[in-house]
Amino acid sequence: MRGLMADTALMPIPGPLDPVPVARDVTPRSDGRTDLVGLPIERLIALLQQSDLPAKQAKLRAKQLYHWIYHRGVTDFAPMTDIAKSMRPWLAERFVIGRPEVVEAQHSTDGTRKWLLRTADGHQFEMVFIPDTDRGTLCVSSQVGCTLNCSFCHTGTMRLVRNLTPGEIVGQVMLARDALGEWPGAKPDASPREGGDLGTGSATLAEFPAFAGAQDEDDEGPYTADGRLLTNIVMMGMGEPLYNFDNVRDALKLVMDGDGLALSKRRITLSTSGVVPMMARAGEEIGVNLAVSLHATNKAVRDEIVPLNKKYGIEELLAACAAYPGASNARRITFDSVMLKDKNDSDEDARELVRLIKAHNLPAKVNLIPFNPWPGAAYECSSPERIRRFSQIVFEAGISAPVRTPRGRDIDAACGQLKTAAAKKSRAERDREAAATS
Ligand code: SAH
Ligand code: SF4
Repeated sequence: MRGLMADTALMPIPGPLDPVPVARDVTPRSDGRTDLVGLPIERLIALLQQSDLPAKQAKLRAKQLYHWIYHRGVTDFAPMTDIAKSMRPWLAERFVIGRPEVVEAQHSTDGTRKWLLRTADGHQFEMVFIPDTDRGTLCVSSQVGCTLNCSFCHTGTMRLVRNLTPGEIVGQVMLARDALGEWPGAKPDASPREGGDLGTGSATLAEFPAFAGAQDEDDEGPYTADGRLLTNIVMMGMGEPLYNFDNVRDALKLVMDGDGLALSKRRITLSTSGVVPMMARAGEEIGVNLAVSLHATNKAVRDEIVPLNKKYGIEELLAACAAYPGASNARRITFDSVMLKDKNDSDEDARELVRLIKAHNLPAKVNLIPFNPWPGAAYECSSPERIRRFSQIVFEAGISAPVRTPRGRDIDAACGQLKTAAAKKSRAERDREAAATS
């Protein structure tokens, strides 16, 4: 165990704030056991060898563990029938197969579900599941908070920032599968409202940033080919995924591995606010769909609302998009624009967006996101007519520009907002709820 913690290096997050030291890839547990979730097979082999299993046995056992953990979704060693009965307690003494702890789970009347989660060292983050007619999308967080301080984003106002580990990232997808009863071999009666359900919570105000449906419309395969609800993943929860590149890549590898969670890369979208130097690597080493939070088409406005623009400007960002490995007309890049009244929503803004996309010859689609207000925000949402007109201008230029419908309004499913709602509750109240829902 000590050996493993020794390579839990601290990593500073770059960004406009002071670098913050964070645990790099495994969060230590108070009971001294190691959580295996998030580890690739090579790390499982190494761990077993460190625990004195001979090389050949370590390799075989690691393969079996990998299958049970990522493909079958078990959270205990007892059901691992192909591992000797006497060895299962030996494993349980040293390791756990964990999940992020559920602090609060909410269920919207429109089917949207939201979870406030907690890491083993007590940091809170969230995930959201949005069911739709043709897909079910899980919005996954990559960091606790975000260093980038986009002025319209509530997450950017959180002071505390730490990268999530691969285990905490892939753990969100695994927890969602638990809740939806979607592991292979899960009992048919493990419906979202029975067995696998994590409970529902109280309703609060506000709405949802509407990232649902950010993937290609031309995804392969029907929604319920294998009877699953969770078909798509968007890295659009809390945090900037390209500021936590290694952990996001390692987590998504487990998600995409056919022997692991086995979700196609075509059904995964990574959203970035424009970390230009990491974009080529994202295409090469992860290879999922790309969404870019553009939000503005001129320097002055983008500098204000996405401060990272001061470091990597619009031209540079669009050039990186044009070079993004794997982008094509079949796999277009999504350009997101949050619609802010009198800030970025004029006809000229729409025309400039079209001009930029065409000038860079980008296989693009545009996603218009009604601004989701939060207490203290300096912006208002554009009017529905204004957003429609913006969409029309882009659409008439031959670029798809849907307006995203807010989802999960009654449960406040906006990124960064559940945290606020939970913070208002007493500690005891939260502990009671956590006990009831875990
Ligand atoms: N940090 C990455 C990953 C997702 S951020 C990025 O910025 O791309 C979460 C998403 O929610 C982004 O698409 C962002 O544009 C959107 N968002 C943040 N605050 C919002 C708000 N108040 N209203 C609507 N959308 C918002
Ligand atoms: Fe961070 Fe994205 Fe929010 Fe900007 S929009 S502060 S990059 S989470």
